[in-house]
Amino acid sequence: MILILTPNVDLKGDEYRRLMDSLASFPGIKNRIHQEHGTEVVLTEVYLIGNTSSLSLEEMRRLPCVERVVRVSEEYRILGRHKDDQRPTYFEYNGVRFGQDNLHVFAGLCAVDTPEHVEMMMKALQENGQICTRMGAYKPRTSPYAFQGHGKTCLPYVFQLAGKYGIKVIAMEITHESHVDEIREALQQTGNPTGVMLQIGTRNTQNFELLKMVGRQQEFPVLIKRGFGITLEESLNAAEYLASEGNRKVVFGLRGMKSNMGDPHRNFVDFAQVPVVKRLTRMPVCIDPSHSVGSRNGSPDGILDVMHATAQGIIAGANMVLVDFHPVPTKALVDGPQALRLPELPRFLEDIRIAREAYEKRVALWKVAGEEAIGKSSANSGQ
Ligand code: PEP
Ligand code: MN
Repeated sequence: MILILTPNVDLKGDEYRRLMDSLASFPGIKNRIHQEHGTEVVLTEVYLIGNTSSLSLEEMRRLPCVERVVRVSEEYRILGRHKDDQRPTYFEYNGVRFGQDNLHVFAGLCAVDTPEHVEMMMKALQENGQICTRMGAYKPRTSPYAFQGHGKTCLPYVFQLAGKYGIKVIAMEITHESHVDEIREALQQTGNPTGVMLQIGTRNTQNFELLKMVGRQQEFPVLIKRGFGITLEESLNAAEYLASEGNRKVVFGLRGMKSNMGDPHRNFVDFAQVPVVKRLTRMPVCIDPSHSVGSRNGSPDGILDVMHATAQGIIAGANMVLVDFHPVPTKALVDGPQALRLPELPRFLEDIRIAREAYEKRVALWKVAGEEAIGKSSANSGQ
């Protein structure tokens, strides 16, 4: 059960103390406090842990400082959607809103290679009205002999160039806790010209110690990718690890499943689960068409599979697209063959706009049907 307290409640005040005294009187019930610091208000939630089935919602609502009460089903206590759950389905970071109701494109380099390529990418993004990108500095590779990313040495120029071209959020995979410190230091050194969304890659989805560490910091939001060989439920539980440690600024990423049933795609595209994740949780949902499809193959209609997959995810309501681009794909150090090219960026964004508009029209279409159904049932109940 979650008690949502009145905004800006004073944790040193008498009312709050009375609430805590009342909670202490319920046998076998422990509590955990979570605070969310917004730009204007601080929201406090009290998680009641233990057998809460005997507690009535009415009784809880009457306690001091309590504004609302949500009874949670066991799964995904914090990030999940529960009955009558009005908690937000969005968060803000560095002036950018990430929610289940909007869409951002993170086009960029799979792996940072040279400052020239980073600059060409960022410039093209700015020219096309983009404020987010992806830039890999730490690359988990199958072979220990493959390029592992430039690591912290590239961070200063990546951040400076992002600032120069108005990029507000960079998705960047980290594979070790030291990477978070390196990112924080490089941002400070360069005067915080941009922001970073920490990415947990598919190989680390169940690296629980990494999740706990990333969850304990609330400075950076997190994009957690679905594990490529585990169930959706297991991956959503992995996301819940982040929130249970305190960080709720979490985006969930679908990136295809490892299975030869998906051949000739690199992974089996799983974007039909975008609405499932939105139904089960309050997280915005990201799709990664590049790592799902893994090639530049196209169909006879002249559209690349990567673009078809992108449109499929967006028309199902995706909120974020993570996609590999490269100014000179033949010189890319990682995943060049699947990268889209800079001249393709404007048309790719237009394709996304078309798919998003189609999604919005679909929502409007079915909203009318839903209202009609409600109208009919209330007419029936009146008879
Ligand atoms: C990536 O986005 O660069 C990446 C390695 O993705 P994934 O973890 O999904 O393989
Ligand atoms: Mn890649």
